[in-house]
Amino acid sequence: MAPHSHSAIDPRPATPDLEWVVCDICGHDDARRLATLPPPDRLLWPMHRLGASALALDGQPIHLVECRRCGLVYMNPRLTEAAIARFYDTVYAAGAAELFESDLAVQVRYYLDALSRHVAAPRPHLLDIGCGAGQLLALAQARGWRIDGAELSAYAAQHASQTLGVPVHCGDFRTMGLAPGSLDAVTLIHVLEHVRAPVDFLRDAAALLRPGGVLMFDAPNVDSAEARLARRLRQPWRGFIIEHLYYFRPALLRRLVADLGLELIAIDGYLPGVPLPNPLRAGCCARQPTTCSTPSPRLRPGGTTHPPAPSLFGRAARLRPATPILSTAADSLPIPRRACWRRSPRPSPTSDSRYPGTAGRAPTDAPPGRYPAVRARRSPPAR
Ligand SMILES: [Zn+2]
Repeated sequence: MAPHSHSAIDPRPATPDLEWVVCDICGHDDARRLATLPPPDRLLWPMHRLGASALALDGQPIHLVECRRCGLVYMNPRLTEAAIARFYDTVYAAGAAELFESDLAVQVRYYLDALSRHVAAPRPHLLDIGCGAGQLLALAQARGWRIDGAELSAYAAQHASQTLGVPVHCGDFRTMGLAPGSLDAVTLIHVLEHVRAPVDFLRDAAALLRPGGVLMFDAPNVDSAEARLARRLRQPWRGFIIEHLYYFRPALLRRLVADLGLELIAIDGYLPGVPLPNPLRAGCCARQPTTCSTPSPRLRPGGTTHPPAPSLFGRAARLRPATPILSTAADSLPIPRRACWRRSPRPSPTSDSRYPGTAGRAPTDAPPGRYPAVRARRSPPAR
């Protein structure tokens, strides 16, 4: 991928808690509005209203936008890393951590069962990135797996170590010193939508896999049946929540996996623990090739179609036929033309009048890639 980084995003954010970003996949600043989040005091979920009460948004709206080039859906302007940290600190201080983890505790068996179908090593080595309180790791360990965890939340990491006795690195997994090509499996459950540069994050996670190693992750799915129904009814989709920076669709995940040089094993929408498609999320499982391959440097906008992938959980994939990214929901969403904005394909660094103080950042003038700081915390599954 050509170097691009969001570590030096707009130096003049609209408020100290908001920052402007370009598409993390293709680097363009050419997106259309899909939805606007309600003001902090009118967010759907009480926990989000609580966390947002700690933010200083100065009345500025937060939009969910879709890149016209590649179809990635992201929050823009989005909360800064410091604002997200304050959001979670407020939520955790109110005792919501138990809520976060109790929901996940009942799901990990389903994740591990699905992963186990694709990992053949006799005593596989698993890294769970964003491992939360460590339930997935504990279950894998009980089944004889070698385990490592990474978690940014000190609260959760301490809970995992003290309560479940699993090894958890509190911090970015890229600072763990794991050797590239050394792992049999890497999982990112309820993580990708939280990281600030998901493409680099996935690439670095995949680089830890040995040939034939398996990457399993999930993400909010804007092509889910529920999201499509919400669009049809012109209602806000409950899956759009304030701490999720990115949203995906299965077609985009397939292209992302291919462009990272991975072989897609399965992709699906699912609800962990229940053998029905998840109304909110998509799950993806991919394998590091056993033979050397050269991934393309950057996702190409539009065009490529792929056959439907097999299901992660053994059912026929319930996906619509693959369509070019550029012509998917972007043209079918009920957003009035006048409500959309259009940006130049080669954005100028001038300010956006709707967001005083912000400036578009040309994707080509970014500093070469350094890992931007990430804050990958699990959120409670929005239900
Ligand atoms: Zn894009």
